Amino acid sequence: LTSLTDEARIVFDTIGGRAAGLVNPSLRIGVTGLSRAGKTVFISALVHNLIHGGRLPLFEAQKSGRIARTYLEEQPDDAVPRFQYEDHIRALVEQRVWPDSTRAISELRLTIDYESASGWNRMFSRGRLSVDIVDYPGEWLLDLPLLGKSYTDFSRDVFELAASPVRADLSAGWRKAAAAVDPDRDADEMVARDLAEIFTNYLKAGKDDSRALSTLPPGRFLMPGDLEGSPALTFAPLPGLDDARRPRPGSLHAMMARRFEAYKTHVVKPFFREHVTRLDRQIVLVDAMQAMNAGAGAVADLERALTEILGCFRQGRGSILTDLFSRRIDRILIAATKADHIHHESHDRLQAIVRRIADRAIARADFVGAQVEVVAMAAVRATREGTANEGSNALPVIIGTPLAGETIDGERFDGQTETAIFPGDLPAQPGAIFGDHGSSHPIRFVRFRPPKLEQGASGLTLSLPHIRLDRALQFLLGDQLA
Ligand code: GDP
Repeated sequence: LTSLTDEARIVFDTIGGRAAGLVNPSLRIGVTGLSRAGKTVFISALVHNLIHGGRLPLFEAQKSGRIARTYLEEQPDDAVPRFQYEDHIRALVEQRVWPDSTRAISELRLTIDYESASGWNRMFSRGRLSVDIVDYPGEWLLDLPLLGKSYTDFSRDVFELAASPVRADLSAGWRKAAAAVDPDRDADEMVARDLAEIFTNYLKAGKDDSRALSTLPPGRFLMPGDLEGSPALTFAPLPGLDDARRPRPGSLHAMMARRFEAYKTHVVKPFFREHVTRLDRQIVLVDAMQAMNAGAGAVADLERALTEILGCFRQGRGSILTDLFSRRIDRILIAATKADHIHHESHDRLQAIVRRIADRAIARADFVGAQVEVVAMAAVRATREGTANEGSNALPVIIGTPLAGETIDGERFDGQTETAIFPGDLPAQPGAIFGDHGSSHPIRFVRFRPPKLEQGASGLTLSLPHIRLDRALQFLLGDQLA
């Protein structure tokens, strides 16, 4: 699948990276997840809590006072945009609005000066670790399976999925437009552009809040990064193709097939080669709450997307491609974000549900040699908890400031008023969310404004409140600071 030079380069990069790591210990952590999963908020909160000495009791190095200083440094990759930490924090902390979400890849280097826990290590290590955080859209990972597909395979698979019950109505317009085109007709830029546009609209429609369907490839159609409008993105599947029929030179079919190949060569491969292969650890954020709210179909769809995403980090057996691409990743954290939307009594249930959603993906991905953990957390905790009396019952509620325009029971919020909400319980049996009754178990889901800062661990500084962010940190970084 890859050419020899590609492979040589991958191996070279990997060895080179390791050698560099010996000189100046560094750890590359990938942060991914489908759009709106919470990547930007997670990275901003993680960095803010580390720099400002947040309350992180489960993050051992911090709790035992071994971290001397944490600071931002210049990132090692000049060609990758920097993660705009300062802008995001200004939005979160000063304006109390959510920051702009991830649209493309970005990077940030965080350096931690620490004292090793063991006397032996203290003699030999400088006690400095650079953590390179790489933020990128999960949509881009969904492209990996395309590398093993021909344009004909791709077209066939897309039409098949488009006709499935959860997508049939969304895709009807595009399927009709595609059916009206003869693949053998002369190539025409405007026809290609129109088809690509209608096809992209279909892919986007699934992301609507009420559908909450997970994304389908090609990932750049939804998250184009800087490639918007380029020919490599101006193609679409065509109907009725089969392997026996070779495209006629000069036909629309030939043009589309060529662009599909260009997409693989110039977009997908370089992304995996230059970014994914170099990661040491990975956190995959999932918005299970949103999917559960939309019903069983959306949950099943999230499971499918997560299976494909995790498949990219498969270790051991598998295609040459995945072997080469993922062999360094030794820890994968699957994190359900936004746990602050439910009462803490339900946090373990959320964790069990995400474990259930991830189970099949984990089993199939065969992570020999990599540790995989699941956590339910909130990178930023926008609510606090309380109880409300209803008759003789004390109901567990969450209290926060709903975003302007949010409604609940017909009441519309102005973005200034604090309110208590009974969010409802998650099912005790994780399997229940896959049943047809998924949507009869709705959590009352209101989006809240970011919170005010709270006293940090030292009592001197203020930091962003969170739920179990420290557990995530301990899993991702703890052993490196031992
Ligand atoms: P990205 O597309 O993965 O970068 O997603 P963002 O980090 O921008 O998050 C998308 C939205 O989810 C934010 O604008 C918030 O509304 C919400 N969100 C993300 N993380 C949290 C969290 O920890 N708590 C709460 N309450 N909302 C969150």
